[in-house]
Amino acid sequence: MPSLKLRLGRSWNEQAALGGGCSAGGEGGIRTPVTLASKAVFKTAAFDRSATSPRGLSHPETANGGAKVAPCLRRTIFAPMGLRMEFLGTGTSQGVPVIGCHCAVCTSADARDKRLRSSVWITAGDARILVDAGPDLRQQMLRSGQDRLDGVLLTHEHMDHVAGIDELRAFNFAQRRAMDLFGLPRTLEAVRRMFHYAFADVRYPGVPELNLVPVGKDPFMLGAVRVVPVEVMHEKLSVLGYRIGDLAYITDAKTIAPAARERLRNLDVLVLNALRIDPHRSHLNLAEALDLVEELAPRRAFFTHISHLMGLHADVARVLPPGVQLASDGLVVESDDPPTSHP
Ligand SMILES: [Zn+2]
Ligand SMILES: [Zn+2]
Ligand SMILES: [Zn+2]
Repeated sequence: MPSLKLRLGRSWNEQAALGGGCSAGGEGGIRTPVTLASKAVFKTAAFDRSATSPRGLSHPETANGGAKVAPCLRRTIFAPMGLRMEFLGTGTSQGVPVIGCHCAVCTSADARDKRLRSSVWITAGDARILVDAGPDLRQQMLRSGQDRLDGVLLTHEHMDHVAGIDELRAFNFAQRRAMDLFGLPRTLEAVRRMFHYAFADVRYPGVPELNLVPVGKDPFMLGAVRVVPVEVMHEKLSVLGYRIGDLAYITDAKTIAPAARERLRNLDVLVLNALRIDPHRSHLNLAEALDLVEELAPRRAFFTHISHLMGLHADVARVLPPGVQLASDGLVVESDDPPTSHP
């Protein structure tokens, strides 16, 4: 699949080196395995039960309702660090095409209608960061040509976001060290349960070596990279989005509280989930995602976690306002200028 390239003309650089507000808590927690109470309550992770039955595409009038995109505010006092994001997958929990489905989207010849489970690869300076590790991880790493990984940011414990964690052992072997997984304590507890064999006292040779690093609402450091967590609600489940510099990745959101929205101001790039045209109880639909883009006013916005019910990529792309586009697998977003501000 060809890699689509998009230059955005702005980027982030390393504030930490300049003491620019990077007093992130959590350095002490990095590489510290979390000990989770065995009796803590957590519902077993489940697949997102998003849209399953195909229907005709019908765009709401809001789809081309003119979401405003903020002008780019520039500052150039820091040397560019280089921030790059590749969409490894842009599909909802079942992926697109859906097994056994013969709808127009699932049978489309357009490569942009083939969506692996949602995940992005972020390069910030020398750091290589994976957001989520879904069931298509191996295929995504091979297609993207990755051979080194510094840490994984987990948004939540639904299977379409964590089912590929076992594949991380390839990086264990190559890098001869454990892989750090950052996430909410609840999410890490679920990972520990799902991949119990990786945490057993006596382990089978070759199982993944995982270092669970709990994070909360405070910014933290992944190596030299400052990461700002952004809590969003997936119906009743709290999910972490992540902001690095002026780039934010939000998936599986239905609502975002005002305090969390403040962390999404002055963005160069906002990635947001947009499941389909019709409303859904735990995911933003297209109209809701467009409303959020209008409010948050990033320079550019990309939608991901897309169902076959969204319709053909080409049809939806035609009705989106300027500065907003559906992401597609393999899409690369780059920016070279520094951030305007950090929450
Ligand atoms: Zn999901
Ligand atoms: Zn379909
Ligand atoms: Zn989910």
